[in-house]
Amino acid sequence: MDVILDRKIQMVDVQGQYQKIKKEVDKSISEVIDSAQFINGPKVKSFQSSLEKYLKVAHVIPCGNGTDALQIALMAAGLKAGDEVIVPSFTYVATAEVIALLNLKPVMVDVYEDSYNINVDLIKPFITEKTKAIVPVHLFGQSADMEVIMAFAKSHKLFVIEDNAQAIGADYTFESGKKQKVGTIGHIGCTSFYPSKNLGCYGDGGALFTNDDELAQRIRMIANHGQKKKYHHSVIGVNSRLDSIQAAVLEIKLKRLDKYAQARRTVADHYDKALASIEHLEIPVRNPFSSHVFHQYTLKVKNFHRNGLQEFLKSHGIPSMIYYPIPLYKQEAFSEFYSGKEHVVAEKLCEEVLSLPIHTEMDVEMMNFITDKITTYFK
Ligand SMILES: *Cc1c(COP(=O)(O)O)cnc(C)c1O
Repeated sequence: MDVILDRKIQMVDVQGQYQKIKKEVDKSISEVIDSAQFINGPKVKSFQSSLEKYLKVAHVIPCGNGTDALQIALMAAGLKAGDEVIVPSFTYVATAEVIALLNLKPVMVDVYEDSYNINVDLIKPFITEKTKAIVPVHLFGQSADMEVIMAFAKSHKLFVIEDNAQAIGADYTFESGKKQKVGTIGHIGCTSFYPSKNLGCYGDGGALFTNDDELAQRIRMIANHGQKKKYHHSVIGVNSRLDSIQAAVLEIKLKRLDKYAQARRTVADHYDKALASIEHLEIPVRNPFSSHVFHQYTLKVKNFHRNGLQEFLKSHGIPSMIYYPIPLYKQEAFSEFYSGKEHVVAEKLCEEVLSLPIHTEMDVEMMNFITDKITTYFK
């Protein structure tokens, strides 16, 4: 008996989500157009302060996109050409790209097999006198082990820039029981508002977070042509701004961010329950020190079954993605940084990971359809 689903399954459903908030979003966008304050308008300021409150952070500095946020953070950290920056080898290219772009050296470190985040125990041998910063990535919606990373960074005098493009809204819990929003623990946190991100706008957008007043000032200046006072430029900067129209969308969606995360967790719970006992599958771990906002639900498919499963799902109209197929050091663009030594875990993950559809608009029927098909494949 073949179950038929009369709707298209997508990795994310930005359109379906929009339909539910259309009235509010359209009104908010119209207000911007009516006011014609497209750049640095009141919507940008009010979104900024709403996000500061939500994250309980002193400063949110909006910018053009997540990649810019990372670049601006590195510039604000005052690194010099040739300085070395520690990054995980299993992440999106943007994390390391901006490092190389600034003539800094990305030094790649392998990740944990279970959480896919940077393996802190492996960092030490890579530290030289040129090592100045570390960029932990909170991959797929779950925090890297920030308490351990911050302690390590402190003892080696490293600047910490969190790449929080995938985990906005997640909470990190310290040993003491204290909770803090992911992205507000390092010296600077960076995020992306790309449409498919957990807090996505309808175009490009990004932001930096910091609790340090001086750093915040420097970040603002760098993002605005290195300008301290109009037409007075103190440092070389960039032009990176969040549009007022995007801020108008984000303001509406921020109010729902926790609800959206809950909807994603409901999908993840369903997948966990249906897939945990299937041989050859490993469901994603949830570390006790972080809540998981499931930017992706990423399985490990063992014993060379991954590509076959992906093909099978595709033939039944179920999309899935491989985030990421190649470790950073094997990307052609990074060949000059490759020592020739493969990372055991990153290599294996690239062979085994498979991300299933997960978004705020999925219903039980869709989830059942997907898990039934996966179960069938392994029968
Ligand atoms: C999306 C993403 C970025 C880049 O964000 P953009 O807004 O697309 O520039 C950086 N790092 C990670 C981990 C991402 O997922």
